[in-house]
Amino acid sequence: MTLPIAVIGAGPIGLAAAAHLRARGLRPLVLEAGPRIAEAVRQWGHVRMFSPWRFNVDSAARALLETRGWTPPAPEVFPTGAELIAHYLDPLAEAMAADIRTSTRVTGLARRDMGRLRDGAERDAAPFILQVEGPAGEDSIEAAAVLDCTGTWSSPNPAGAHGLPALGETAQATLIAYGIPDVLGAARAAYAGRTTLVVGAGHSAMNAVLDLVELARQVPGTRILWAFRRPLGAVNFGGGAKDGLAARGDLGARAQGLVESGAVTALAPFLIDRVAAQDGGLAITGRQAEQTVTIQADRMIVATGFRPDLGLLREVRLALDPAVEATPALAPLIDPNLHSCGTVRPHGEAELHHPETGFYIAGMKSYGRAPTFLLATGHEQVRSIAAHLAGDTVAARRVELELPETGVCSTDRAPAAPSCRAPSPATTACCSVA
Ligand SMILES: Cc1cc2nc3c(=O)[nH]c(=O)nc-3n(C[C@H](O)[C@H](O)[C@H](O)COP(=O)(O)OP(=O)(O)OC[C@H]3O[C@@H](n4cnc5c(N)ncnc54)[C@H](O)[C@@H]3O)c2cc1C
Repeated sequence: MTLPIAVIGAGPIGLAAAAHLRARGLRPLVLEAGPRIAEAVRQWGHVRMFSPWRFNVDSAARALLETRGWTPPAPEVFPTGAELIAHYLDPLAEAMAADIRTSTRVTGLARRDMGRLRDGAERDAAPFILQVEGPAGEDSIEAAAVLDCTGTWSSPNPAGAHGLPALGETAQATLIAYGIPDVLGAARAAYAGRTTLVVGAGHSAMNAVLDLVELARQVPGTRILWAFRRPLGAVNFGGGAKDGLAARGDLGARAQGLVESGAVTALAPFLIDRVAAQDGGLAITGRQAEQTVTIQADRMIVATGFRPDLGLLREVRLALDPAVEATPALAPLIDPNLHSCGTVRPHGEAELHHPETGFYIAGMKSYGRAPTFLLATGHEQVRSIAAHLAGDTVAARRVELELPETGVCSTDRAPAAPSCRAPSPATTACCSVA
């Protein structure tokens, strides 16, 4: 029997990858660390997505589900993370149940009998070995190719100014939440009537702040401080009405409105150096315009983005951009240092391959530290990779996706940055929004 193609992670992109591999007549084996599929999405199940259903369902997944009488959700409705699972990912996983192993964490990956160092013609021919921890203990699995779709949810960036945890941050972990805690639901008691410092400027921070403002409306005494690393004028609140995803534009516009109206207290810039326990809460010390300032808060929500955990890939030959930690071909398309536009040109196998033949990182993790990943981008990635693995190089190189633009583009720092979509002859802009 031929070896399976291992897909690590049963999130939306891992499951879409499996659907594309099956559609190509290949045999996927999906390995998921959590007891259920989509374990990361479950952690933010209460968050309403900014992309509607029409951007959230993969084409091969849809085709598979439709053979089972699935009714697609209304295309223009915005699901929560929990609805994405209930109406799409759970039925999809059911349709591929024989190809999925849950409670199976991949702990290491290598080529059989070869560490990273060993060269030779036989390297490319050797199967991959995946070491796993599952219900029956440790085991190893052989695979012909591997797609790492493990996302970045479990490796959030810290609050500290230098990219390292601030001094004391790790020790105060019980009063710090990373990501978007459910402050209107399961985590309500911890935040109601308290002061929370939210750190970060992206969509996750905006969602956290908006939920806290709603909580403050319901429970007097709830206070919100919002810390940015940049001065307020340099914060990117998104493209507003120009955003191709109206809900994403609206999220940024509402968040900006809260700052401008004073509904939340903005600290910008505020560079956090130290976190200490004080009176049952936190004393957070940072720099504000060269002054050292200490802020009191009961809790912190750190939403400063995510980074890829590369530990399990230690024995695999990777090519990664030193800043973004995406492949060198993808990094310039998404590097916020080159262009602030989050509109990303569709890309596939050609941009995603590594020196280790047959190994790919796809989905959220493929973006490394860049914050602009969309499910639709990931669906196109795994469509192209599956086509390549099936030997259909024409389909692998074909672009089958038109992505919504963010409507915000500042190319002033790098006018010649690689375009987020192919520039028309009439424009040198990064995207079509001037
Ligand atoms: C709050 C939030 C809202 C978002 N909203 C949108 C939106 O509206 N539209 C949009 O297009 N995108 C959105 N995104 C971005 C992105 O589409 C999601 O993060 C999406 O879940 C990424 O899918 P993924 O499959 O790459 O990774 P994940 O969903 O993170 O899935 C990774 C899976 O791998 C498993 N795993 C991890 N490590 C291992 C291991 N070692 N072994 C085995 N399994 C492992 C995890 O348990 C998890 O199930 C949002 C992201 C967040 C955080």
